Amino acid sequence: MIISGTELAKETKQDVARRVAEAKEKYGRAPHLVVILVGEDPASQSYVKGKSRDAEEVGFKNTTIVRPAETSEKEILDLIAELNADNEVDGILVQLPLPRHINEDRVIEAIAKEKDVDGFHPGNVASLWQKLSCILPCTPKGIIRFLDKAGVEIEGKKAVVIGRSNIVGLPAAKLLLDRNATVTIAHSRTKDLAKVASEADILVVAIGRPKFVTADMVGEGAAVIDVGVNRDPETGKLCGDVDFEACKDKASVITPVPGGVGPMTRACLMENTLECFLRKMGEIC
Ligand code: NAP
Repeated sequence: MIISGTELAKETKQDVARRVAEAKEKYGRAPHLVVILVGEDPASQSYVKGKSRDAEEVGFKNTTIVRPAETSEKEILDLIAELNADNEVDGILVQLPLPRHINEDRVIEAIAKEKDVDGFHPGNVASLWQKLSCILPCTPKGIIRFLDKAGVEIEGKKAVVIGRSNIVGLPAAKLLLDRNATVTIAHSRTKDLAKVASEADILVVAIGRPKFVTADMVGEGAAVIDVGVNRDPETGKLCGDVDFEACKDKASVITPVPGGVGPMTRACLMENTLECFLRKMGEIC
């Protein structure tokens, strides 16, 4: 079964749009998402455009603040402080990566925890690992949605996550663990990765290498979630970390790239923004 992220994202956004309309009726305004873009990186510009399109689609007020690449760290921190203090701003997202002279950790930490729609703030990360209420990072949240949508049982299953970044691999592993999977986190120094991966019932791949996962690394009937976004060196087209054509017949469930985890990540961002707003209004805790 190939699970379309585009379709699932559409369903998720329709649900968010319905809840936004209700919230607007009840509270007299829509949630407000502010996205800050520093510099002119074309990939970042395109990601920000996509987020803004989605925000409009679900009925948010949405503002994109663009600053030149030479903007100082202090100016960005001052801008975030202003947005934190603005009661009518519900979600703040700073598009990463930032220019080298700006410390990303300091910027992420400056965003108010309750407006951190990306779920990257250390307070949110700590809450996730302590099983406290928090804003879940969008990509891992989307991964679990895929598995649920496909009817993949997580409890008691062997999950292997390849990649241990703070934004994808580690939180994805934690969410799988919280659903009672037995989780192995693999990385660049894992020995005999093919064997480790092929034993997985659920294989999540987030490494950033085109078509790295080949058919021998996928167990018969595994659910395969491909997070990678790469350019195929041969065709120049977008591709994932998984060799989709080689693996699709072995997997019971697989996500394509493009049209897989990417759109679902953005849909979860919309959901997080709505949840920040509803939390502020005391509707959810
Ligand atoms: P990252 O921070 O660069 O982390 C990559 C991870 O992959 C590291 O843990 C690294 O291991 C591991 N790795 C690298 N080469 C490996 C190898 N040969 N064998 C096993 N493990 C290896 O990347 P990331 O931010 O997690 O992103 C991963 C991919 O997902 C990228 O393609 C990125 O563009 C994509 N992504 C997509 C979305 C989306 O919405 N679709 C969101 C975020 C990221 P070590 O820790 O040992 O170095």
